[in-house]
Amino acid sequence: MFYSNVENFKTTTGYEIDGIWYPRVTSIISIKAKPALYKYYADLPSFAAGEAIKNKSAEEGTLLHETVEAILKNEQPAIPDSVAPATAAFLDFKKQNEIIPQQIETRIVSKKHHYAGTMDCLAELNGQLGVLDIKTSYAIYRDYGIQTAAYVEALRENPSMPSLKRWILRLDQSRFCIRGCGSKMREKGGNIKIRPAKGVVASRCPHVWGELIGEVELRELPDIEKDISAFLAAKTLWEWEHDYWLRQILKPKQNSR
Ligand SMILES: [Zn+2]
Repeated sequence: MFYSNVENFKTTTGYEIDGIWYPRVTSIISIKAKPALYKYYADLPSFAAGEAIKNKSAEEGTLLHETVEAILKNEQPAIPDSVAPATAAFLDFKKQNEIIPQQIETRIVSKKHHYAGTMDCLAELNGQLGVLDIKTSYAIYRDYGIQTAAYVEALRENPSMPSLKRWILRLDQSRFCIRGCGSKMREKGGNIKIRPAKGVVASRCPHVWGELIGEVELRELPDIEKDISAFLAAKTLWEWEHDYWLRQILKPKQNSR
């Protein structure tokens, strides 16, 4: 990442809250290498193609996020066609589970460890309170544990906060082969990915894709203490990497008054 000056660094990687700058949770965790990403880029014609897919897919994810959060806020949002199947899957989930949101899209701050972030949702789910993070990915990745642990650790600074669970609610949509081979096709950011069913040789079935079907998966994340340690370790490494900029932020302003 290239930063043109300290202001650019501050706005790109953090938040200013009550006059104090804090690095953002998602910036901090970006220091962790993601080897699967190398393969993703390597399989595409160019880096720019990868970036275009990533950006378009992030846009689609944001749209689904906004729709679901509006539903959680009891607003009656217009449901865009492009995310209708996943939204329907979410509404189904909401019918089958008791979900009482307490905070949605809330800025959280750790004064103890000096970081900030935006949490999707603090909710009571089937009688238990916890951080609920909404993902629109193909799978639930271990990295999500580091992000949600950071939110829980910050929330714990409030002495009246009870002990918290962590959940990932993954929403997605894909198509299945109607010839019955069990293969699955998912289109994200204009990129088509086919996951053949186990034992199916891709070339043997001239797949015919059915309607878009929404998917919902809820998973509780275990081992919070381990994830908090990993997050704080990532933060130490992130600060090491950005020492040049951080020193300029911490330095007392010389020209003020
Ligand atoms: Zn097929």
